[in-house]
Amino acid sequence: MSVLVPLRWVVRHALASSRCRPCLPPPSNPIGLPKHRVSPFFHVAVVLTATVTAWGQYPTYPQIETTLLTAEQNHPSLAKRYNAGTSIQNRTMWFLRISDNVLVEEDEPEVALISTMHGDEVTGVVMCLNLIDYLLSNYGSDPRVTNIVDSVDLWVQPCMNPDGYVLQRRGNANNADLNRDFPDPFNSPNNTTAGRQRETGNIMTWWWGRSIALAANFHGGALVVNYPFDNNPSGSSVYTASPDDDFFIWSSEEYSRHNLPLWNSGSFFHGITNGADWYAISGGMQDWSYRWHGADHVTIELGTTKTPPYSQMPTFWNDNRESMLAYIEASLVGVRGIVTDAGSGQPLAATVAVAGRSYPAYTDSDVGDYHRLVLPGSYEMNFQAPGHDTVTAESVTVAAGSAMRQDLALGEPTMVVLPNGGESVGAGASLTIEWTGNPNVAFQVQYTSSYGATSTTTDGFESGVIGPEYTMGGNAPWGATTGAMHTGSYAAKAGSIGNSQSSSMTRTVEGGQVSFWYRVSSEANYDFLNFYIDGVREVQASGTSGTWTQYSKTLPSGHTYSLKWEYAKDTSLTGGSDTAWVDDVELISDITTWTAVTQTAPGASTAWWTPTTPGGQYKVRIRAAYGPSIFGAWDESDGTFIVLNVPVPAVSTWGVILLAILLLAAGIILQRRVRPSASTLESEGYHV
Ligand SMILES: [Zn+2]
Repeated sequence: MSVLVPLRWVVRHALASSRCRPCLPPPSNPIGLPKHRVSPFFHVAVVLTATVTAWGQYPTYPQIETTLLTAEQNHPSLAKRYNAGTSIQNRTMWFLRISDNVLVEEDEPEVALISTMHGDEVTGVVMCLNLIDYLLSNYGSDPRVTNIVDSVDLWVQPCMNPDGYVLQRRGNANNADLNRDFPDPFNSPNNTTAGRQRETGNIMTWWWGRSIALAANFHGGALVVNYPFDNNPSGSSVYTASPDDDFFIWSSEEYSRHNLPLWNSGSFFHGITNGADWYAISGGMQDWSYRWHGADHVTIELGTTKTPPYSQMPTFWNDNRESMLAYIEASLVGVRGIVTDAGSGQPLAATVAVAGRSYPAYTDSDVGDYHRLVLPGSYEMNFQAPGHDTVTAESVTVAAGSAMRQDLALGEPTMVVLPNGGESVGAGASLTIEWTGNPNVAFQVQYTSSYGATSTTTDGFESGVIGPEYTMGGNAPWGATTGAMHTGSYAAKAGSIGNSQSSSMTRTVEGGQVSFWYRVSSEANYDFLNFYIDGVREVQASGTSGTWTQYSKTLPSGHTYSLKWEYAKDTSLTGGSDTAWVDDVELISDITTWTAVTQTAPGASTAWWTPTTPGGQYKVRIRAAYGPSIFGAWDESDGTFIVLNVPVPAVSTWGVILLAILLLAAGIILQRRVRPSASTLESEGYHV
């Protein structure tokens, strides 16, 4: 990642580097993974096989291939080569897979370490070969190494760009930069290999066949761990946080904290940086694998020299060994589990999403295992597989240390059979509700007589104050001001803040329609009005065009959303009026009221309910209850049904007798009064 560095970057990072406190010792592990044992080899300069040490210089590509073959031959149950295809000049792009029972798919997170997609950035080749040797040599004797090999499905590719490595240059045989060649949502959004370099296509195809939870790719020319995003819609070099920013900072520091030159970097605080904050790139492998495949992937620059003297490799290995081990272990946190089909028990290809984090994890369909890496906290998680019920675990609590387990057996979707719309039923009469669904779980049944009711709230801030429904945050509160407004006399305006500060206001809303008008006047591409729904950014606006813009979105019912408006400034400079405004907020909320939940016994497919209030447009809805706070998707009656005002008489003997007499009398009267039908008359010889 060493290309032209804009002047702006030099200024920004001269400022940023002043935050760094050199020689600070790394803190203890913040989320409480087991304390790292100091390997007995820690004080030995380097642990290499005779083959590796004998080189005395960077290995040739055939020597790399021989090393991988030897590793496989010496450790057949732990190591297996995988041919990911050939380069343009027909060199094999080898991975070495390392795991216990390496030939068997197991419930383990898959981790990918890939080096030297830039052919002249070579330190990572030696680090990967050393790691392979270290893991295989110490398996069974070093408990930490044994745990990694037993717990993780590790894929190591020492050299992704063999032709560039042999040619001693950045690009491949076409001199194309492979780290600008991957799909990119803003410039090359098709997730296909068409039109891409052969090496890029090979890696994409390999990735599609795997379920990589955690990845790193190694470079040289700088000393920093670089985490997503590398790019943003405007391609500007500004901090571009992903929804998993907290995890990326933590996992990047898991690497940097064990590498003192990196941790004490004079250029990057704790030796890490957001990719786009450093400089934006388009078509990088890191963002591609995270955005399209949910892999938490960082780019690691191992040193400021792309090809340092080979004699420095023992020092590099000493600096990076603990980092590599700790980074691999970061794949063991968060939430893990196996997703199966409730009927057959077979593993499912499923999507596992965390609410507020746009990029889901995917199960490995061979075993059904998923590994969603998150820090300690409480998360809403969503499980989806084609043809199956969509299940939400409303509150999954992740503690420090090893991942918590959440297995799920998904059944068929719940479907309301009766009443499904168009029926007329009597008030006071017992109604049978029928459905189909997962036969192994209980169901929750509700009804409503206010289907589709809405309530509209508009707020132009015309009272001259921001109402109590808004919560203020950041360094200064928003206020209602005159002078710049969309309509009326007032608009909400961000508080006055300085560099690296923010001013925010937050309110909640039920599902429905959300709209508002906004305007910003700021330093373009650096100071932003941001608007978030449940932590996911919906608007990012900057600059001095001064126009009012409307935002509008429909939010699904059944959930309370958090809306947050924020004006946030970067580390330096101002532009325009240096603020943002919001006006004419309109919230059309769905206020359909569903009755309290009736929960059935497991396996039920019917329930009874006696409507009491006639009129209105009724619906019932039903969902599967997989466990406390784990539910399938609601299914509603397709249409509404009507409850008629039919009084049911008190049943008594006299009542029954009276009813019988009345019916008999009515029958006699009707029989006498009914004319024969035309066809009857004709058959009897009459002409009509
Ligand atoms: Zn590079």
